[in-house]
Formats: sequence, structure tokens, C-alpha cells
Amino acid sequence: SLPETASLPERALHVLETVFGYSSFRGHQADIVQHVAEGGDALVLMPTGGGKSLCYQIPSLLRKGVGVVVSPLIALMQDQVDALDEVGVRAAFLNSTQSFDEAMQIERRLRQGDLDLLYVAPERLMTPRCLELLQASNISMFAIDEAHCVSQWGHDFRPEYIKLSVLHERFPHVPRIALTATADQQTREEIIHRLQLEEARQFVSSFDRPNIRYQIVEKANGRKQLLDFIQAEHADDAGIVYCLSRKKVEETAEFLRENGINALPYHAGMDYALRTKNQARFLREEKIVMVATIAFGMGIDKPDVRFVCHLDLPKSIEGYYQETGRGGRDGQPADAWMAYGLQDVVQQRRMIDESEADETFKRVQGVKLDAMLSLCETLHCRRVRLLNYFGQEATPCGNCDICMTPPVSFDATVEVQKLLSTVYRVEQRFASGHVVEVLRGIDGDRVKQWRHDQLSVFGIGSDRGEAEWRAILRQVIALGLLTVDHESYSALKLTDLARPVLRGEQSIQLRKYQKPVKQKRTSQRS
Ligand code: ADP
Ligand code: ZN
Repeated sequence: SLPETASLPERALHVLETVFGYSSFRGHQADIVQHVAEGGDALVLMPTGGGKSLCYQIPSLLRKGVGVVVSPLIALMQDQVDALDEVGVRAAFLNSTQSFDEAMQIERRLRQGDLDLLYVAPERLMTPRCLELLQASNISMFAIDEAHCVSQWGHDFRPEYIKLSVLHERFPHVPRIALTATADQQTREEIIHRLQLEEARQFVSSFDRPNIRYQIVEKANGRKQLLDFIQAEHADDAGIVYCLSRKKVEETAEFLRENGINALPYHAGMDYALRTKNQARFLREEKIVMVATIAFGMGIDKPDVRFVCHLDLPKSIEGYYQETGRGGRDGQPADAWMAYGLQDVVQQRRMIDESEADETFKRVQGVKLDAMLSLCETLHCRRVRLLNYFGQEATPCGNCDICMTPPVSFDATVEVQKLLSTVYRVEQRFASGHVVEVLRGIDGDRVKQWRHDQLSVFGIGSDRGEAEWRAILRQVIALGLLTVDHESYSALKLTDLARPVLRGEQSIQLRKYQKPVKQKRTSQRS
């Protein structure tokens, strides 16, 4: 054991080795541990899998008293406590899943100073009873995990989190460490402001996950493309496939199984026992694919996930980053693959428009979706885009689809003018399918019924196919020249940005259409 005179860094390293069994700190961990153990406040921005837990677990072992960890992830508390138990740390949790007697027993241990770490759900912490209990105990520090939940800009806002500023007022001398894997500038500022962490030292880790290869392909027949991708690249691997709806999860898992892939479904609507069983199998088995809604993944620590696929567009870059971040935790190459199409944009916009949320929230969701779309439609390195979004500079990576096969762009001003004029001529009252038919000069029943075959724009885009026009339309929506109005049957409407293009004052570069081809690529692992 260590001599009495051992310095703080020596003691921290000693705990790391003897309690947790690791030989060295990673990234900023050592600095963070020292800062908080010395009583400083900290804001820690570290990507998922970066090792945030040790940043508060070790300081609370180095300081006198009990460290209180606020976490919204009630489902994980038992696992975390069990894991700490195993290495001899005296840990417990307080949340709504416990019986009264169990909670009473934890409270007793807390008062007697018989705990090193206590996990508490925020709504529990904020009860007068719990605050009094803490005031009567010796608290060594507060850790606020998933701190982005305090932000309305975040993708995971929890109203209880806002009240956590009370901690600073009630316990002014107890150091606080807030941790999150979400780090766009707005969220960061809101965390600092709402939790009164103005004086806290900030520790910002790199968000780059260089072993993840990002790929976003045009969706034609998503399921089939997914199957081709898995069979060609990852036939022997474990992976996760994200879908938007429970129904689609079930159907996709079924489809993959019919095609010889060991796929399991996971979503919150499933029977609890089955869901838990599927999760356990995923953690245990090697050649297995979990088809899931975003309900799956929080706290899942499977190191050898070789691919993460999205069959539907995520709502935000934060979500995309977090979900794709579950691949390649062991540092070995992993793929982040997504199929995305016009329908995704329409669907996501409709979900925002039709949600019950207030206008501010809807506006925020719209901005987040736009950022996600521009990642999909970018002509530049995806990683640069992603990292810039998180406030980090980067240079083209060589390990994303854009870097590996640079898209060809072309001057699409004339095409876009044709499209915008058609939308205008049909009086901004028709959805994408109809507009594309008019452009291409297809005189179906509906077109004839509205006499749109008589319009001057009828057939002005007959030189391009339907898929090609849809690709153009998608990019034009992503650029914000057109919007989809869900109040009137998904009609396409011109925005103010469309005017200079129609007047010929602004030119537009778009990605040249390439027919979706079956991927052929030698494996990245040799
Ligand atoms: P996060 O909360 O940031 O997603 P975790 O704290 O769960 O990450 O850590 C992710 C994984 O990395 C865990 O399996 C953890 O044991 C491991 N880990 C963290 N720090 C170290 C370290 N210094 N050395 C080795 N493994 C570490
Ligand atoms: Zn790149």
C-alpha cells in the first residue's frame, strides 16, 4: 500500500490499479480526477465510451464522505452498483424501482457513512426528504451524469434536471462534476448556465472516432440494401440496425432472419422478459444483429460491434453520433452505414409539425433536423462535418464514403429552376410525387384531372428519371428552397430562399446522381 505522504496523483493511480484493475488513465481522466479530488468543479465533455465513470468514481473514493451521482438512467443503476460491489466499492442507489424497506436501508447506510457512492434519480434527489437526508450526511462531491438533459437544445431534455442548480445553493462547498457526451456549443453553454458552472474547469475530449467509417447511401429499397451490405461486409459480425418505428423493427428483423441472418428485435413495446433476453443474447453472442429503436443502446457496452446501420434518418446529429458511437468500442474498424431518402425528410418534418410540443421546441427540432440533413447531403468529408458540429476542427479523414469516392457535383441551377417553377405553376398545392410527374411529362389520371398536362412546365424535365428528380428534390429541400407543408397534404411550398434562384441571381451546385450500385469493396480488415 501507499505511504502516508503519497501525492494525490499517486493515490489516484493507486486506486485506478488496485480497485479498478487498469494500469493507466486515458485522455483527460488523470487531470479531471485530480481537479475534482482537490475540490474543484468540472464540466467534462467526452464521447460515449470515453471513460466518464472513473472521472467521478475515483474522486469520490479519494475524498471523505459519499459521492452522489445524479443519473436519469434508472435502468442501469443496478448494473453499475453491482459492478462497483464486485471491486469492493460500497455503492447503492435510490430510485423508484425500490421497495420502501430497501430505500430505508440505503438511507440508514448513508447516514452512518457506510457508502462511497450513491446513485440517485434526479426526481428522487429533488424531494425535500432526500435533500434533508443529504444535508445530514457527509457528501464528498456531486456528479451530474448525462448533463445535457438540462438543455432544451439537447435531444434528451428532462425538466427535473433544471432544478439541479439547487445543489450549488444548498451545498456550496461540495464540488460538482457535470458529464456529457453531447457537446455542441449551445448545449455546453446551457449546461454551464443552468447548473451554475461558470467557474468550473472545462475538459473537452476529442470526439473523433477514427476507426469508424461513415457512409450514407441513397435509399432505394432500404431493406435489400441493408441485407446486401451485411452480407457483403459483415457476414460474420455483430451489429446494430436502428429503425424509427416498432413495426419496422419487427419487420426488418424478420426479413433479415428469413435471409439467414441471426437478427433479433428490440423495442420498448416488447414484452419485458423477451426484451431483456434479446439484450442478453446480443451481449453474449458474436454473430448477431440487433434490430432496434433508439430505446436500445444506452449503457450497452459491447466492445466488438462491427457495424451500426440506420434504416431511417436520426432526428439529430447528436443522436446519430451517439448511436454510431456504439460501434468499434474496441478500437478496431467499424462501419456506420445509413440509407436515407426523400421520404425520411418528409416523415421527420411531419413528426415535428404534428407533435404536441410548443413552438420553441419544434423550432429547435427543425434546426437539428436541418443539420442532420446537411450531413447527409454534404459534398465534403462527413467526419469534418460531424466534428465541426461538435465544435472541433478537423481535416478530411480518408475514412468516409465522401473521402473514398468523392461525389461529383454539377451546376444544377437550370434543373432547380425547372423544379421550383413547376412547384409554382401547380400553385404550391401538390406533393412531391405529383410535381415529379408533371416535370417528367407523365400524364396520369391525376395530372389530367387537374389539367396539369396543359401547363408550360409539363415535361420540361423529361430528360431525367424519377429517382434522379427525387435526389434533386431532396437536396433542394435540404438546402431550404422548398418546404413540405403537412397541413395541406404534404404540398411542396417555395421559401424565400427560392426567389433569387428563380430570378437567376444565384446558382446551385448539387451532387451528381449516381445509380445505386451493389457495393463491392474489399474488407477493411485484413
Ligand atoms: P462513458 O461513460 O464515457 O461512455 P465508461 O465510463 O462506461 O464510458 O467507460 C467505457 C469503457 O472504458 C468501460 O468498459 C471502462 O471500464 C473502460 N475504461 C475507462 N477508463 C479506462 C482506463 N483508464 N483504462 C482502461 N479501460 C478504461
Ligand atoms: Zn472523410
